[in-house]
Amino acid sequence: MPQPSPTIAAIATATGQGGVGVIRLSGKQLLPLAQQISGGRTPQPRRALLTDFVGAEGEPIDNGLLLYFPAPASFTGEDVIELHGHGGRVVLQMLLQRCFELGAQPAEPGEFTKRAFLNGKLDLAQAESVADLIDAASQSAARLAVRSLKGAFSQQIHALVDELITLRMLVEATLDFPEEDIDFLAEAKADERLVALQSRLAQVLAQAEQGAILREGMNVVLVGAPNVGKSSLLNALAGDDIAIVTDIAGTTRDTVREQITLEGVPVHIIDTAGLRDTTDPVEQIGIERSRQAVQQADVALILIDPAEGLNEATCNILAQLPPALKRIEIRNKIDLSGEAAESCEQSGQPSGADTLIKLSAKSGAGLDLLKQALLRQIGWQGESESLFLARSRHLQALEAAQAELGLAALCGRHQLELFAEHLRLAQNACNTITGEFNADDLLGVIFSRFCIGK
Ligand code: GDP
Ligand code: ZN
Repeated sequence: MPQPSPTIAAIATATGQGGVGVIRLSGKQLLPLAQQISGGRTPQPRRALLTDFVGAEGEPIDNGLLLYFPAPASFTGEDVIELHGHGGRVVLQMLLQRCFELGAQPAEPGEFTKRAFLNGKLDLAQAESVADLIDAASQSAARLAVRSLKGAFSQQIHALVDELITLRMLVEATLDFPEEDIDFLAEAKADERLVALQSRLAQVLAQAEQGAILREGMNVVLVGAPNVGKSSLLNALAGDDIAIVTDIAGTTRDTVREQITLEGVPVHIIDTAGLRDTTDPVEQIGIERSRQAVQQADVALILIDPAEGLNEATCNILAQLPPALKRIEIRNKIDLSGEAAESCEQSGQPSGADTLIKLSAKSGAGLDLLKQALLRQIGWQGESESLFLARSRHLQALEAAQAELGLAALCGRHQLELFAEHLRLAQNACNTITGEFNADDLLGVIFSRFCIGK
């Protein structure tokens, strides 16, 4: 049942100026508010009403469209009103103020989506995908977020949970009716079901892990002496001029961090040459953030000038990087040396890199080799329809479910009580993804779906 909640209002469109600005309200019984704000007119459900939005004295604040969605056929499941006015900062604030006068309260961040979840309009995974869609940093991420919003991820979880419930039902029946001669578990091929369930879960987890790569992206650091071509490489990877390339060694105008996308995967690149000491407080904040990101880097691209080798500054930076960090050594400017672009394995290098890529940031030769190497390092297998834009919370839940299934398999039918308990815990873990913590009316399930025959 929907819980009592005050009327909330917020500007739903981006801040700033725009042709149209929308204020959204959600609450109980919003028809009187709709009538008051439109100067006494009565909107028809889900029909646009062109009207003045009026103040306390009946004075027009703006003129626009009022949309009225009576509960439960609305985004939040409550009465929802949308006021489509002109997209000016001041006029929208005046209109919002009027909504507050009429009893609405400012909405908390995400409160509309939260109400949609509480009223059963969306499950938790879908609610999260609303935020993911808005935040999507690439077209691939946006496509996956929409799929989750429409329930593709939740369906997979439900399928797992249904199968878990069936298994639990079999086990509970065997526990509850020990005197029966029928071996429910053997008859229903419980062992095979468990194996099938494990492989299905492994598949969902793999799809979620791939999706998580797309969601989180990877952190790459560029390391190397001045003038080896770090900024040029960043530009070449990005495909347009985002960093500033100059001929002056150690230019202070380098970009510290940039985000590009490779095959839809967001790649956050930090040029460690930009991590210099500065007295500019704003720049200091950015640099501090970058220093932290360096600690979380997935891959380091180490650019070495063959004539110079690893200089002291480069060694110092390498020493600060996490030991487990993947390292790729880059030999840039092959257009000058006349070497061919290639990617080769190497071992025992001072840089610690096991891959060497020869390329030219200027001509673009070898760039594809580098992109492939980067994507390979984080295990990206390419976008496909079956990925889920998973959050780490989802991965943790799926991993927990996997661990419980593994324990259940160990217990087997010789320790039925433990077997049942691990299945229950696996189901709980899956349920946290969609936010259903209470779908546990097992007895009801047993008697509705499983015919005992007595
Ligand atoms: P950074 O200091 O490491 O960021 O180096 P930059 O990207 O600023 O490059 C330094 C100089 O090397 C610039 O004049 C670039 O145009 C030049 N450069 C960078 N990459 C290449 C390359 O692949 N080939 C050639 N010929 N010049 C390059
Ligand atoms: Zn640079």
